[in-house]
Amino acid sequence: MTNKSIASLLSETATLVEIAGGNAFRARAFQRAARTLEQLDESVATLLAEDRLTDISGIGAGLAAQIGELVDRGSFEARDDLLASLPPGLLDLTRVRGLGPKRIRQIWQELDVTTLDALEDAAQSGRLAELDGFGPKTQQNVLESLDQLRAYAGRRRYAEAVGLVEPILAALREADVIVRAEPSGPLRRQMETVAGADLLVATTTPKAVRAVAADLGLALTPRPDGDDLVFTGTVDDDFPLRLRIVAPERFGTAWWWQTGSSEHCAAFEERYGAPAAVADEPDLYATVDLEVVPPALREGRNELEAAARHALPDLITTESLHGTLHNHSTYSDGAHSLREMAEAARARGYSYFGICDHSQSLQIANGLSVDAVQEQQAEVRALNETFADDGGPPFRIFSGIESDILPDGSLDYDDDILASFDFIVASVHTRFSMSTDEATARIIRAVRNPYTTILGHPTGRLLLRRDGYAIHHEPVIEACAEHGVAIELNANPYRLDLDWRWIRAATEQGVLIAINPDAHSIDQLDYMRWGVRAAQKGWLTAEQCLNAKPLDAFSGWLAHRRASTTV
Ligand SMILES: [Zn+2]
Ligand SMILES: [Zn+2]
Repeated sequence: MTNKSIASLLSETATLVEIAGGNAFRARAFQRAARTLEQLDESVATLLAEDRLTDISGIGAGLAAQIGELVDRGSFEARDDLLASLPPGLLDLTRVRGLGPKRIRQIWQELDVTTLDALEDAAQSGRLAELDGFGPKTQQNVLESLDQLRAYAGRRRYAEAVGLVEPILAALREADVIVRAEPSGPLRRQMETVAGADLLVATTTPKAVRAVAADLGLALTPRPDGDDLVFTGTVDDDFPLRLRIVAPERFGTAWWWQTGSSEHCAAFEERYGAPAAVADEPDLYATVDLEVVPPALREGRNELEAAARHALPDLITTESLHGTLHNHSTYSDGAHSLREMAEAARARGYSYFGICDHSQSLQIANGLSVDAVQEQQAEVRALNETFADDGGPPFRIFSGIESDILPDGSLDYDDDILASFDFIVASVHTRFSMSTDEATARIIRAVRNPYTTILGHPTGRLLLRRDGYAIHHEPVIEACAEHGVAIELNANPYRLDLDWRWIRAATEQGVLIAINPDAHSIDQLDYMRWGVRAAQKGWLTAEQCLNAKPLDAFSGWLAHRRASTTV
């Protein structure tokens, strides 16, 4: 069990305590332990094995024993008791936006609502609004959130889907009767969210695969139409899994069809006819003299034309990246110190690291006061001296800030402070409820600011959680092109913002894309790979990516920008 899953079960236990009306102190203890474990570098399993869990502040003998039980069997006695004492659907209500444990308890106690369906009834009939502290606005928000939950049901963000499918694929590949097992469908095309996982298995003994699936504990069942070459089921509660079985000599063609997209396959058929039955997918393109189209590009966006001219882009990879620019530290809301974050970036092979903590107005994220900015910049200088002298590979920290874009589009410090940074990522974090025109004007004003280097997560979306604020992408991209501002592709798997569908529009105008992990802890530096996969969907090459520039070129780019945009 990972630290993260232990933490999420502890945090869920805290919620259960509160819904049950239990001791608030007890709930807080679980919550605190969850937060601590989540940010721990060592694995909880190791700490348990070495009897060192109680060394961590806030974790006493009782809690340590419960965590031990949790790791052993996925739950512990007090948690079991709570679950048994509460109606089973209540925990689902925590997924509704705006409903915390206290409100859920109130809804349960006063309206006898214990499921999402009953909640919807209560909201539609107006009973929810009559509760103390609710009102029509809250009721409307609950209805909207329920709609959204329904639309998101069964979907997963790309990174989560990969995490669910990888162990299944590994197990399939272990089986002697399976020649080959691969993901296909939107998952293989690296879509930012997927409504299920399609897997393709090559075997000469289809019946034997049935036993493998059963061994995996997957509830795979033949489809009702009696086609026993397709099994369907779900993993992780409600994530659909479709397993198709094919003979090895037709694997390539079946894989291509199942990967899609339908636009890509239709365009191919229209020009070249139905593809031949091949064992290896690249042969399918080769037989009609096409360059092999990477799955990420198969979206019906002129990729076949490019493949016919043998002019497909040389897609960016994680190895193309030399630096990571948008990262946080304990100066604002990060989990690790500036030094720890920079060293972790260096250990990952980067030659530069941008520190980009939150700016002063974002108090909720402990944004940096002017004093804190100066203190951090002094530390950056000191660390850079150490890095220069330690005989290791060249490495440099660049002093940046994630400046809030205020509602009027201005940045969050006076010009003399803004001028003291090496670079600035300008991002919107507040006042999402603007019209599209207003939001666009706000962002363009920030892009025009001579101190803005990169436009951060342009729409603020959180995939499968909230839509971003709507903006007109074209004028924003034009403004970035005009002012030499790069656009971020935020690699956090919840964001992947700029949306890949807009990347080509940006690069065609010469706008550079910065792929940034927005890391708030060391492990989040590895978000980079999700950003790269989304960038590949947008045809991005290393030349079009700001942080694929080697250290000297990046530093030169900053200097040149600064010289050409002096105020
Ligand atoms: Zn941000
Ligand atoms: Zn950030």
